[in-house]
Amino acid sequence: MRIGFVGLGRMGEGIARNLLKAGHDVLVWNRSADKADTLVADGATRAATPAEAARAEVIHTMLADDHAVAAVTFGPDGILSADPGIIHVSHSTISVKLAEGLTQAHRDHGGGFVSAPVFGRPAAAADAKLFIVAGGGAEALAKVRPLLDAIGQRTFEIGAEPSQANLVKLSGNFMIMSVIESLAEAMALAQRGGVDKATLLEVLTGTLFGAPIYNTYGGLLIGGEFRPAGFVAPLGLKDMNLVAEAAGTSGVPMPLLSLVRDRLTATIQREGADIDWSGIAKVVWADAGL
Ligand code: NAP
Repeated sequence: MRIGFVGLGRMGEGIARNLLKAGHDVLVWNRSADKADTLVADGATRAATPAEAARAEVIHTMLADDHAVAAVTFGPDGILSADPGIIHVSHSTISVKLAEGLTQAHRDHGGGFVSAPVFGRPAAAADAKLFIVAGGGAEALAKVRPLLDAIGQRTFEIGAEPSQANLVKLSGNFMIMSVIESLAEAMALAQRGGVDKATLLEVLTGTLFGAPIYNTYGGLLIGGEFRPAGFVAPLGLKDMNLVAEAAGTSGVPMPLLSLVRDRLTATIQREGADIDWSGIAKVVWADAGL
């Protein structure tokens, strides 16, 4: 299939490469053009604008935030300035509100919108091991399903309303942040009492906490190397702000959200914007005198 791909950052590069490997004809565009060089060398075609990348049946976007997705969709030379009829598959973690706006805009343009945010860090993106949460009309979902299968290990179809996929993704990221916070606090408690963090993690993951999230983030916390980041703390804070926006709209109190949001803010202030979001552990441990 002829597809466009916009956004070749930590996640997008691996996803686009897997679409290329699956035999698709891939048109790529990135704001910083040099990030497309290796994909072009490997067989992708460089597009000069997002609109040029949208001269295809389907266009994927994997961009930082709402602002970026809106810019490449609605802006000059944006996706919606191309010929009508394209299906836009959005993998970014964006707001429920923007997903609703994109759904309407693509419908008005004679095309379709599928929200397909992902779980998994850059290594999972490179290995086609992402978990994808997809929302969209049945026809559009059926058309893009082989593309989603090429980039992930499992796709969950949430329903016809694309923004519900974003709500699921935001709920998941709130849970991940809460797990990192609780793991870091438990490790501080153990360590202050003379128990090694690795010993605690071995017991936790070997008993009741054997889920991938405890293994992945427990390992990162024990390694203590929070740079280079797989997922930078400012994007994590962006997500917690999107959760707060959705909670406000729905009237759901989320006191734990306020705590982890403040923790991320403090981490960025103390450590800088290049730290991984799991780097909140450094602040937890510093507060405990470690
Ligand atoms: P990243 O490495 O920072 O890449 C961000 C991409 O967005 C780059 O291609 C960047 O272009 C582009 N961009 C930013 N602002 C733009 C603008 N105004 N106009 C056009 N392009 C713009 O981020 P990432 O880690 O790949 O994350 C991408 C998305 O996936 C985010 O929504 C994130 O929340 C989500 N996500 C990330 C992870 C993870 O572990 N990293 C996991 C799941 C979901 P330049 O190259 O020019 O800067």
